[in-house]
This record gives sequence, C-alpha cells and structure tokens, in this order.
Amino acid sequence: MRSLREQFDFPIFLNADHTHSLVEAEEAARAGFDAIVFDVSALPFEQNVRQTKEAVEALKTINPAILVEGELGDIGTGSEIHEEAPDLLKGLTRPVEAKQYVESTGIDILAPAVGNMHGMLKSMIGGQTRKHLDIPRIAQIKSAAQVPLTLHGGSGTDDEHLRRAIAAGINIVHINTELRVAWRRGLEEGLSSQPKEVVPYKILPFAVESVKQVVRSRLRLFNGVEGQQPASARSSRTLRGAVEF
Ligand SMILES: [Zn+2]
Repeated sequence: MRSLREQFDFPIFLNADHTHSLVEAEEAARAGFDAIVFDVSALPFEQNVRQTKEAVEALKTINPAILVEGELGDIGTGSEIHEEAPDLLKGLTRPVEAKQYVESTGIDILAPAVGNMHGMLKSMIGGQTRKHLDIPRIAQIKSAAQVPLTLHGGSGTDDEHLRRAIAAGINIVHINTELRVAWRRGLEEGLSSQPKEVVPYKILPFAVESVKQVVRSRLRLFNGVEGQQPASARSSRTLRGAVEF
C-alpha cells in the first residue's frame, strides 16, 4: 500500500472489512489499516454497544487517526450468490437505536440495514430482480445519527435506489459481489476467446477490463455523471469517491 501511495498521485486507503473480534481488529490496526469495520451486529443491541465502544477505544489508542465503523441491524454475510432471498424486514436498523449506538460507542461511520444485503441472489445476476432500499429510513437514520453511512451489500441494487440512497445520506457503497461476478465473466471470456492460450498475462487482462468497466460505470452513477461520454473521455481517476472491494 505504501509503495502504491508513493507511485500514484491519488489517495488509496486500506479498510479491514468486517472484523468480528477485538483481537482481529487490533491486528488490522497495528498492520496499518486506515479504517476498520468492527462488526458484532449479530449480538443483541446492548452487547453490540458495549463491545463496539471497547473496540473504538482500543483501536484509537493504537492509531488516533483510524476510522472505526460499527454495524447495526442484519445485512447477512458473504459476498456470494445466494439461492434464496432472506427476510430483510426483520433486521432493519431503527433510527432511534442508530442515534443511541453512535453516541454510546463513538464510532466514526455507521453501517445500517436499510434493505441492503451482502451477496446477490441468482436472479440479480442477469438483472431480472434488483435490491430495493428503504430510502425514508436512510434519511431518518442520517438525521438521527449524524455520521457518514456505509451501504454494505450494495451489489444488484436498482440504480435509481442507489441515487436516492446517496441523496438521503449514504456516503460509502460496497459492491464487492458485482465486481466478483464481473471478474468471473471477464476470465471466462479470456478463456473462451483464446481456447489454446496458456499465457496468464494474455488471459487475465480480460478479467481486469471487465472489473474496470463495472467500477467506471458505478463511479459515474455514484457521482451523478452518467451520460454518453466515451470511456476514454473521463477516466475513473477523475471521479470522486471510492469503490470498495
Ligand atoms: Zn460488508
């Protein structure tokens, strides 16, 4: 990471996504991660508050500049392709709890459950179905909690809902599964278009290009600069924000 930062003139950050224990989180902080997602959202509210507060204190002792993100509500696990849809309504984050959680723990960033879900359903891969978000809830959580919000499990979300979610207060969007799907598609294209090829550097660029296209189109959407621009006219380097893997 250090050599990448020195080589390029844009900021790159390391985020330890979903650490589930203080030991793991501290290990990441000591290794130099810039941000830590401390995720004990599977625990009851009071325990989640207590453990997250402890983690914030311990991690800021290691690095006062580190950003700690806490998670409240149920957004499932695993950037995978799921067979069946979970019942998302059960684990939605309540705005009043979000406020209490942020104030009691001292987290910098909140990851709420607002209709988002880790991974994608099979039907979302081809675009037959899409995730829909609870936009009013996002706005209520934002005004109650007053911190940056991360949308985990954003893959496969309806474009208009992503736009409205950002307008309502989402600051960071995770789309790991979309990128993994793009990677696999690119790899398959690299293999099938050159059936006799055995040179990795002739096959792997297809996967990189495929991921790049999704990153570029998502950054455009998140920055509100969609349109008919050719890909070369505006590189993803000029767009604000980050795509997290
Ligand atoms: Zn996540």
